[in-house]
Amino acid sequence: MQQNVLVKKIYTDVINPGNCFHCGLCEGLTSNLFKMKKSSNGPLPKLVRKPISKDIPQLERILLACPGRGFPYQFLSKKIDANKKNQFLGNYNNLYIGSSNSKTTREKSSSGGIVRTLLIELIKSNKIDYACILDENKNQILDFNLLITSKIDEILNCSQSIYQTTPTLNKLKTLKKNKRYAFVGLPEHIASLRVLKIYFPDEFKHIKYLISIYSGTNMYPGSVEFFLKGNGIKNLGEVKKIYWRYGEWPGLLRVETKSNKILSLKKFYYNYLIPFFISKNCLITPDFTGELSDISIGDAWSPVLEKSGHGYSIVISRSASFDKILNNLKQKEVISLKKNDEKLTMEMHSHMLEFKKIGSYLRIRKLSKKGPVPLYDLKPSHVSAQRKLIEEIIGLIIRLAASKKTKNIFSLVSSNILGFIFELLRKIWKSITKPTKRKGFLKRNFIEIKNDRLEEFIQNIK
Ligand SMILES: Cc1cc2nc3c(=O)[nH]c(=O)nc-3n(C[C@H](O)[C@H](O)[C@H](O)COP(=O)(O)OP(=O)(O)OC[C@H]3O[C@@H](n4cnc5c(N)ncnc54)[C@H](O)[C@@H]3O)c2cc1C
Ligand code: SF4
Repeated sequence: MQQNVLVKKIYTDVINPGNCFHCGLCEGLTSNLFKMKKSSNGPLPKLVRKPISKDIPQLERILLACPGRGFPYQFLSKKIDANKKNQFLGNYNNLYIGSSNSKTTREKSSSGGIVRTLLIELIKSNKIDYACILDENKNQILDFNLLITSKIDEILNCSQSIYQTTPTLNKLKTLKKNKRYAFVGLPEHIASLRVLKIYFPDEFKHIKYLISIYSGTNMYPGSVEFFLKGNGIKNLGEVKKIYWRYGEWPGLLRVETKSNKILSLKKFYYNYLIPFFISKNCLITPDFTGELSDISIGDAWSPVLEKSGHGYSIVISRSASFDKILNNLKQKEVISLKKNDEKLTMEMHSHMLEFKKIGSYLRIRKLSKKGPVPLYDLKPSHVSAQRKLIEEIIGLIIRLAASKKTKNIFSLVSSNILGFIFELLRKIWKSITKPTKRKGFLKRNFIEIKNDRLEEFIQNIK
């Protein structure tokens, strides 16, 4: 029976080999067939009833739009309206550095508060009925859910970045076809929605705008508990509130306990959690910026801006409508906005772009010897032997750090000490590997490749 074959394919291609991106589409497209269930390796779809023939169309859609099978970005990028070609950032119309002019919005934001300012403008100007954004459930620490709202105060409240693998597409079927939505997600969520919009335009036209945040690394659940243990707090039950990017940009990890204790750690220090908890999905995707979005927003890292504090976003506009919205907001003095140069935009994130464009390619090539992997349609024209060696070392560090034994030992060490050591090692590692990783990287060519996944997209296009 075809439905069983399709379910089996989701398991054999994606879930069993550990390629699930935790996006939630399996639950979001089907009628009570899958449910996302929590696990130490992130939320995973679980079959909750036997598939029937009625499920076939939805199962086919999941297989087409599942990030865990990879996307032919080069092929799909031709289907969005952006007019400037760029294989690192994705195609775009304009690049900006921006920030909200509202002191409170900017202060509470991850970078410059652009995401929430755009959502509020879309609601106020009646371009959408609802915003779909990730939020923490009330009084449930580290329990996140997609909030579908038209309320300005609720949108304003949904600031900051959540560095934990969390589905956002699991509520797709609850969206009303006669309403208009803007969806905020990570690059893989947005790519999946873009595929649905391209291949099933009538059924997904209610999802009007796709807003992506940049995503470098994400973490499995357990990172905050690890941080707490190193600070003498035994469990989450003692926690009242967690902020991932508290206060002045780039912000602090701040934990407030029920006994009024406050723990905080600088953003660059708490990156020490990454090797212990990094999720596999962010190691096997080349998409850092959300290349198939209408607009993408990240931190505008630059020594000058970081020194000045306050918070700045880098903005990639890939559509004429967002160019217009941004410039209107600038005119009304709701935001500050300045065009940014392509080279500077890429240099701001050259480390992470390299990690995704070269690193992911090497990691996937290695994994492909063991089983199914996500397939993409571009590969770097050349990778040096030194770069391959660096990848082996990165892989070894992650494997060692992710083991239960290592975590148990390091969880006892104070986060300030670990953070300080990590930051020091990171700087040393960066200076050693920079010549190999960055030399000529931004001038690198990528070659188009053909594979079964690309063929699937070509065959399906009407
Ligand atoms: C896991 C992760 C990794 C990131 N890595 C990088 C990076 O390497 N470099 C970089 O420049 N930027 C990265 N970002 C993006 C950055 O942290 C900011 O989200 C972005 O700059 C937008 O800032 P803002 O001030 O405009 O957003 P705000 O106005 O503060 O709004 C934030 C919005 O992001 C949404 N959101 C938060 N977390 C998630 C999530 N996990 N999934 C879906 N939606 C979410 C919120 O619901 C809210 O709508 C990352 C974000 C996340 C969540
Ligand atoms: S990545 Fe998304 S669509 Fe693919 S198996 Fe996981 S939850 Fe389902």
